[in-house]
Amino acid sequence: MTSVDTDVLVVGGGPSGSATALRLASLGHRVTLVEKRATPRHKACGDILTPRAVAELARLGIDPLDPGRGDGRTGGWAGGNGHRIEGVRLIATGREIAEPWPEHPDLPGHAVALRRDVLDESLRERARGAGVTVLMGHEATAPLAERGFARRYATSVAAMLVGLAVIYASGTLWLAYFARLASASAAVGLSTALATGVYPFVLADLAKLVAAAGITPGLWRLIGTR
Ligand SMILES: Cc1cc2nc3c(=O)[nH]c(=O)nc-3n(C[C@H](O)[C@H](O)[C@H](O)COP(=O)(O)OP(=O)(O)OC[C@H]3O[C@@H](n4cnc5c(N)ncnc54)[C@H](O)[C@@H]3O)c2cc1C
Repeated sequence: MTSVDTDVLVVGGGPSGSATALRLASLGHRVTLVEKRATPRHKACGDILTPRAVAELARLGIDPLDPGRGDGRTGGWAGGNGHRIEGVRLIATGREIAEPWPEHPDLPGHAVALRRDVLDESLRERARGAGVTVLMGHEATAPLAERGFARRYATSVAAMLVGLAVIYASGTLWLAYFARLASASAAVGLSTALATGVYPFVLADLAKLVAAAGITPGLWRLIGTR
């Protein structure tokens, strides 16, 4: 087995993993990105990059309308056949409304449709170009599962609660940051983030957690008897 010396290990070569790896590498960190699939995949996705996603890509120095070299395998932005989307059309109960994207001081006035396999591979190429070590066909194994956390109800619940808390904490701070930009006060930003990103989901997430933690130890026992 080969060992890799790295400052940061990013797990998952989807858009968030590649963007995180790219940003950390451009800040000077030694970054390794592991993606369990050996080759680019087609993922179920509407393939739409909203104006906010287009702005995020611009922050990474990427224009998804840039045709690049189009081969998906060159250094830097490989590009693809992105299509500019000027607005949205809503169709329901026999009515149709067409609207341009809302105007925003920091966001472009257009979205882009780009195939996900092209986006994912091109972002990984960009990350490679920035010095990230990208290991395709490498799966991060689950240290908690390996230590038997998923085999007992109590430890299963505890592990899932910690995971949920991390997701809620990071997501809420992120939402609060954007809500703060649109309002005058940090308190309003935080309460908006809680009202839109936490309260509507917390009950369903806790129910899913209790169900998943109940089922998982049983599945382990089932596998263990084979
Ligand atoms: C039907 C559908 C339509 C959608 N349409 C849109 C849309 O139009 N626009 C939009 O912005 N969003 C859309 N989304 C949401 C969008 O697909 C997700 O928000 C996005 O894929 C999240 O990116 P990610 O990088 O966090 O995760 P993912 O894209 O899921 O990437 C995670 C990566 O991690 C890898 N991985 C997982 N576990 C491991 C491991 N243990 N070790 C190594 N690698 C691992 C996976 O193979 C995968 O490549 C849609 C989603 C669905 C389901």
